[in-house]
Order: sequence, then C-alpha cells, then structure tokens
Amino acid sequence: MLHHERLRPPSHDYPADEWNVIEKVFHPEFLAQSETMLALGNGYLGMRGCPEEGGPNAENATLINGFYETWPIVYGEEAYGFAKTGQTICNVTDSKVIKLFVDDEPFWLPHADLLSYDRRLNMKSGTLDREILWETAAGKQVSIRSRRLVSLGNRHVAAISYCVTLLNAKASIVISSEMAADEAGTPISVDDPRLAKAFSGRVLHSRASYSKGRRIVLCHATEKSRLTVTCATDHALETSCAYTDKTVHTDDFGQVAFVIEARPDCPIVLTKYMVYHTSRTASAEELCGRAEWTMDRVTAQGFQQLLTTQEQYMDDFWRRSDVRIKDVREDRTKRSTVEIQQAIRFNLFHMLQASACAQDAGVPAKGLTGKAYEGHYFWDTEIYVLPFLTYTSPRIARNLLTFRYKMLPQARARAKQLGHRGAMFPWRTINGEEASAYYAAGTAQYHINADIMYALRKYVQATGDELFLCNCGAEMLVETARLWVDLGFYSDAKGGKFCINGVTGPDEYNAVVNNNAYTNLMARENLRYAVETAKSLQTSKPDAYNALVRKTSLDPSEVETWIRAAENMYVPYDEKLKVIPQDDGFLDREPWDFRNTPPQHYPLLLFYHPLNIYRKQVIKQADVVLAMFLLGDVFSSEDKKRNFYFYDPLTTGDSSLSSCVEAIIAAQIGDMEKAFRYGMAALLMDLADVGGNVRDGCHIASMGGTWMMLTYGFGGMRDNDGILSFWPRRAPEENGILRFPVTYRGQRLEVEIGLEKVEYALREGESLLIRHETEQVHLTRQNPAALRPVSRR
Ligand code: BGC
Repeated sequence: MLHHERLRPPSHDYPADEWNVIEKVFHPEFLAQSETMLALGNGYLGMRGCPEEGGPNAENATLINGFYETWPIVYGEEAYGFAKTGQTICNVTDSKVIKLFVDDEPFWLPHADLLSYDRRLNMKSGTLDREILWETAAGKQVSIRSRRLVSLGNRHVAAISYCVTLLNAKASIVISSEMAADEAGTPISVDDPRLAKAFSGRVLHSRASYSKGRRIVLCHATEKSRLTVTCATDHALETSCAYTDKTVHTDDFGQVAFVIEARPDCPIVLTKYMVYHTSRTASAEELCGRAEWTMDRVTAQGFQQLLTTQEQYMDDFWRRSDVRIKDVREDRTKRSTVEIQQAIRFNLFHMLQASACAQDAGVPAKGLTGKAYEGHYFWDTEIYVLPFLTYTSPRIARNLLTFRYKMLPQARARAKQLGHRGAMFPWRTINGEEASAYYAAGTAQYHINADIMYALRKYVQATGDELFLCNCGAEMLVETARLWVDLGFYSDAKGGKFCINGVTGPDEYNAVVNNNAYTNLMARENLRYAVETAKSLQTSKPDAYNALVRKTSLDPSEVETWIRAAENMYVPYDEKLKVIPQDDGFLDREPWDFRNTPPQHYPLLLFYHPLNIYRKQVIKQADVVLAMFLLGDVFSSEDKKRNFYFYDPLTTGDSSLSSCVEAIIAAQIGDMEKAFRYGMAALLMDLADVGGNVRDGCHIASMGGTWMMLTYGFGGMRDNDGILSFWPRRAPEENGILRFPVTYRGQRLEVEIGLEKVEYALREGESLLIRHETEQVHLTRQNPAALRPVSRR
C-alpha cells in the first residue's frame, strides 16, 4: 500500500532532463532537499549541495566515510550485552566556501536580485554546475559560473572552478576562499530515531595548522575515536585584472582573500583545490605531508585535467551501468519518459557516489549525502546495493565484501559476548562493533549474517572470483553457519524441526519473534552455501581447505550439523490461507486499523509506541515478499501471487526499502499496474521526496532497489542457479524499450527488451551461455540473439 504523496517542487523550476537534475529557481524552502539531491561524493568524501558562498544552508555537511566520533550510550535501564558505544559520523573541515563581494556588497542568494539561475547535477560529467546572473543594487551585472567536483579518480581530491565576470561596469571585487573546522552543528530533533546524534561540544581538535602562499593546511583529530583528518586547500587565480591576495589562518579557520580591480568582460577564474587525508594511525605531521603530496600533484595537473579524468570515469561507469528506457515512438519530448530516464540515472549516479572509493569502509545508509542513520552501515549494502555493484562494478563489490571480512574479529567477539558460537555481524556499525542502541530493531536482526553470505554467493557466482571465496568468503561462511546452528534448536513442538526463536526479521514492525520466515529461509541458504563451499574446497582445493581448518578450527563433523539444520529448517506455512506467515505469531495478531490511521501518521514509528505496533498485524517493509524475490526458485508463481496479495494491504512502506521489492514481485506475478506504481515510488523516492525525508539524505538502499526493479523486475533477470536467465516483462513505460548492461564473469552483456522481442548482445568478452525463458542461448561477440518472449508469441 502507498500512503503518501508528497509536496513536490514546481516542475517547471525542476525540469526533466535525461542527464541533469536541474534547479532553475533558487527556492529557499527546498534548500535541505536540494542539498541532498545535489550532493557530490565518491564513497570516501562527500559534500552536500550547499551554495559555494557558504550559505544559506539547511545542513552544511562535508563527510568522510568512516570518520566518526564515539559516545557512551546511556540507557535508563541497562542490560547485559547492550551496545555500549555509539558511533556517529561527524563533519570534517568544510573547505568549499567561496564568498564573493562586489563593491563590498556580499553575494547572498536569498537577497540577491537574480536575473538568471541554473544549478545542475551533471550526471554525465560528475559535477555540480551553476550559472547565475546577479544584478547588484547599484545595477552592476555579475556573471558567476562555477563547477564543483569530488574526484572519482582520486578519492582524496575535490575542486571548484569559480568564474566571475562583470558585464556592464567595473567594480572592486573580493573573492574570499575559506575553510572552517567544527562549525556549530544544526540543532537536531531527538524525536526521529533515524537522525544522527548532535554532539554538544567540539568534535575536532586542532593538531596542526599552517599556510604556504595560497595553500592552507589544517589538521584535526577526534578525541575518543582517535581519528585524524588533514584538509588542505590551494588556489590558482587567472585574470588579466589587477589583484592582490592575502592568506590568513588560525587553528580552525583558513582564508585566502583576493582583492581584484575587475573590468567588464574580463573573467576572473579562481580554482580551488581541496584535499583530504584521514588516518587512525598516522601522526599529524605525516598526514599533512600526504595531503601536500596529493596537492602538489593536483595543482600541477590543473582543473581541466581533473575534469577530463572525471568525465572519462563517468563515461566508463555509464557504459557498464546505464539503464535506458526509450519510447518507441521516438518522442523524446514526452515528459514521462525523460523523467523516468532522469530518475533512473539519478539513482545509479548516487549509488556510484556512495560506493566508488569506499575502501576499508561500507556504504552508509544515506551514502555521504547526509548524517541521518549516523553514517552507519546496515544490511542495506549487501541486499540492496551489492547486486548493482556486482553486475556493473565488481571491483567495488569486492572491496565492500572485503571490508565485511575485516570485521570478522569483532563479529567473533560479539558472538562470544552473546554466548554464541561463530561470528555475529553488527546490525549497524562504522567500526565493526554493534552500535544499535535499540536491540529489538537492531541486534535482534540476525538475518544480516545470512544477508552478507547471500551477497557473497551472488558476487562469487557472477564474477567467478573463487580466490576471494577461498581467502575470505569461506571463513565467513564457517563462522556464520556456526552461529545459525548455535542459535536455533530442534523443537518438539514443531515436529522436531530446526527453529530460530527471538529474532527480528527485515520488517521492524514485528520485533523479537519466533521463526521469522525470512530469517529461517536465508539462514538455510547460508548453511547450504557453507556446506557446499567446505565440501568443494575439501575435494578440489585441499590447501585452501587446510588453511580454512587452521583459521577456524573446523571439524569435519560440524559440516554434518549444518546439513542437518538446513534440511530440517522450519518454515512457517498456513494451510488454510496457503501463505507463509511472517513468523509464528503473525496470524494471531490483531489487524491494524488502517481505516482510522490518518495519512499524516505515517511512518507509524513516529506516532505510535513500539508495543502498539508490535502487537498488530502491520508491516513496515517487505519481509516474506523480499524472501520470495531473493530466493525466487523456492517459490512457485502461485505462492508468489498468494503471498504478495496477502501482505500487500498490510505493508505500510514506512521503510524506503519496501517499494522496490514489491515492484519486483508485482512484475514477476504479472500485476503490471502495481509494478508500475511501486516502481515509480521507488524511482522517485528521492527526486520526488516520496518518503518526506530526502532533506536528511538519499535513500541509498532504495536506489539500489530501483536497479533491481528494472533488471530483475521488468527485465526478468534470474541468477539463482548459476546461469543468467531472463523472463522479461515490460519497460516501466507503456511503449518503452528497456536496455541495460550486465557484467558477468568479466564479459559485458547488453539486454534490450523491446515490445515484440528481446535482444541479447555480447559487447565485451568472447562467449556466454544464458537462458531466455526456458531456451538456452549461446552468445558470441559476432552472434547476438533476438528472441520473442513466450507471452508475446
Ligand atoms: C529499515 C532498515 C534499514 C535502515 C537503514 C530502517 O528504516 O527498516 O531495514 O536497514 O532503515 O536504511
């Protein structure tokens, strides 16, 4: 069910465009939303889309993935094993400010007389571009053109090209380029649990600060998490106008001010380079040195070179990842097609920005577009984001899985603390330790362990990266299999079946339940994959197997316990309704009174005590329906239909992780009306603020979900049995053609789903076996295939 339609900015001010997200008018009331939507990032460094001039800002954030401060979690009532330490991503030095003064009058957007305004997130070049024509009170016309980029090629680097030209008069101009550390944070409402903690005192403490000419270096460290960040800026000014400049700095502030005698039609181009380096171990001196090396290289290259590299990166990304829809009538002016294309690219672009350079880090729920969810990594990464990366940028997928692998020591310690064998990955974390202060919707979500293993399997299957499986994956499989066997038990009350009690599934509106179907099904998958991997290593890679035994003290008899648990896994089923109850108690609960729930009371979590929610039949997000997608082979079409229609009216979609999944199953069962409706909600989650909270950051999981919806849902892609197959539906547009690339085992396949036929072409690689519905198709570079779907024969 979809309960909310949100306020959207006037569409003529935000025109649809295939490659840009455009803001034609400065709307102060949409400041927070556009800061999120126009944010730039590279998975390491993120800058919200605030204006260059240092304001106005709703939430001016410059974030580094994994740069956080800790704080003691204070509970009213303590209990054993509760997470003790909160982790919150914090602002690092804000370096992007460039203030402009004309005849000493500041350029301040809300007050300025703007003759024209155009700001756009340019998804082709990976930049934020702005063109403004400002008329001062004295009638002087000033053209301001800027281009900002956060480099995808070098994660430490960002740059702004800021060009000012007077059009009709001379004037004295000051351009003040600034940087500031630890500005006062915005006050944050504590009523919304999704938002980040505000720190009361200072977070960044100065360790070093100096300047050399127009270069300023500020180094700070956090007190408790002991992380150090160095931010350096450097400047180049090009103009034929006469000017002077002056650099000043303190511990927390730096400024290079250019005083220019500007003449009409004589451009003044300031290039500002920004470099960030962070470390847990390096000293302030060392980190400043690193920042300077990077800066030397970048300033020698110049802005144009950075831009060219960025454009090349983007070209390459789109070649591997672009999902296109086309109206067969070739009516490119048709708004909805252009809007959909824009939304698709917007989602893909932000996923790239959230993950590209995430090394030794995960993907925060909001990427680096906002601080909500505290910069934490959840299962969102593995279930929603990794499929896209696995099939388009496998190297990034591998980095993220490697990061999970590196968390194994903490996961082992956490399992031990909770009295379990094996390893237990944290529900939410930055540093590998559990940071969830509300165990019922946090630690109890044991399914995250199976989710990570599910993503591992998909990755290994799609890439053939057996080495990763041997070196890292197998160890995680052993430890998670141990966890499941330890957690569950053979229940007499359930006919001796293997049951898992006291867990929370993906749906956080039914907490601490017995036999959550999703968890049991995914745990079974986890156990089976562990068995398969251990056995195949034992027979075909004895050295790797011996190493695994050494690392995990694996006893061959353990594998038998995994087999037994998997084969006896209890999966709830209701004979009467012929549906899978979400958990043992789900059908006993009283139905939620949807009729008397006013639309403004969604999301329910902000208006009802958890207990009022937990005792009712009401769902936050797809749960059984998600299992039907992830484990598609386990369910017949009839099962999918029955369960989908049973859960659909109970699902609020209060989590943005829901619509995309519902769209996929709706498409699979042929309910195209619902597939389109949910599909559009997912696609426009951020661009149209469907959830009403885009101000706090992009919904990265939902963005990943839109890719899955287009490929798995409309494209009918299946990858459950080790061979890629397609059961195509239709594009999310009446007369649409859907086209998308998929990287599989190092080869690039392009799939085009037309109205009458489906075309498969191998663009990179030599030969690939796929399945078109039930038919096997052998593709070579010279031999593409064009086939009709059964439904259209
Ligand atoms: C959802 C979780 C999700 C988290 C972060 C919550 O609202 O219920 O499934 O992991 O948001 O996106």
